[in-house]
Amino acid sequence: MSDVRDLEDHIHLFLPGPVETRPEVLDAQARWMIGHRMPECAELIGRVHEKLQQVFQTKSRVLISASSGTGMWEGASRNCVRESVLHAVNGAFADRWAEVSEANGKRVERVSAPWGTAFRPEQITERLAQGTFDAVAIVHNETSAGVLNPVQEIAAAIRAMPGGKDIMILVDAVSGMSGAQLAFDDWDLDVALCSSQKAFALPPGLAFAAVSDRAMERARSIPNRGYYFDFVTLDRYLQKNQTPATPAISLLYAADVQLDAMLAEGMAARFERHLALRDRCIGWARDRGLELFGEEEYASPTVTCIANTRGIDIGALNAFLREEGMILSNGYGDLKGKTFRIGHMGDCQLGDLDRLLEAVDAFLIQAGLWTPTTTGMAI
Ligand SMILES: *Cc1c(COP(=O)(O)O)cnc(C)c1O
Repeated sequence: MSDVRDLEDHIHLFLPGPVETRPEVLDAQARWMIGHRMPECAELIGRVHEKLQQVFQTKSRVLISASSGTGMWEGASRNCVRESVLHAVNGAFADRWAEVSEANGKRVERVSAPWGTAFRPEQITERLAQGTFDAVAIVHNETSAGVLNPVQEIAAAIRAMPGGKDIMILVDAVSGMSGAQLAFDDWDLDVALCSSQKAFALPPGLAFAAVSDRAMERARSIPNRGYYFDFVTLDRYLQKNQTPATPAISLLYAADVQLDAMLAEGMAARFERHLALRDRCIGWARDRGLELFGEEEYASPTVTCIANTRGIDIGALNAFLREEGMILSNGYGDLKGKTFRIGHMGDCQLGDLDRLLEAVDAFLIQAGLWTPTTTGMAI
């Protein structure tokens, strides 16, 4: 394997996806191919599915698709929105999902909150009460702003509304799932979808979506569900531990190995580790005279978005980090240059993060933007 993975070329990813993937997980993909109607493949999918249910904390199905998370956005909008959906938008990904619903002919209204702030339940329920919506779409962890929306409280408030039990609660948990708490059954959600290349620390190319019985019932009542992301067909095949089309078999091998490691760590320990990573990032930023971009109370456990209050040239910073074999993420869209983001999701450990922060310190010192003695303490 060393011939295809030259360590000299390795750039450690502190991005909010794709993220660093462990060598054992990468190697798992190199196994012999199997046919997707062979019993070996059904066993593989059965194993992966059972472990996904534990990660999503659900007894419901977790659909598996060979796509990125965007595919499941389309699937959720298409299968679960009858006519009209309220999209809660407080960042770039939430807005893009609203565009996906529009592109699929759904009537979309947006309730907006400024980037960096989290939604309070009443902002959603008040807007819902003003219209006729059969679904709500919200992002769990808004990657562009580094904010975790209080999805549990929001879902509870929606369920408590008159008719709230018939509203589909659709959640984009792409960069949150497995790094931040999300209990699908307890929270009474209808869809929670995610991608493999974020907190699961797998290569990109797989998407997972937990789907409630209520959402399946809704899907069966909707005529034009599309083809590739038809939840009814995906569910029918999953009951036989199959997928309707050829699955991404190599990625499923990797998922089988990685899910074992994730469950061995334990989900509670995994969430704690992510919170410790977040707190380390926030403390580091403060000590360097930098500020968190968003509300601290809702700071994301998986990606920290830092306001660039010291006028750091983020491009130059990344060029410097590359030489050290690392990379972080510039701000998203309009926030480019105004913020930068440190992805610390998946298998990232405190030692990995410290190595990055030390390198950023070296850059800041070299650029004359910070000195350990004047503003704060070095790690
Ligand atoms: C990355 C991301 C997406 C897009 O996922 P893809 O797997 O690239 O399709 C959607 N939502 C959020 C919150 C994300 O972080």
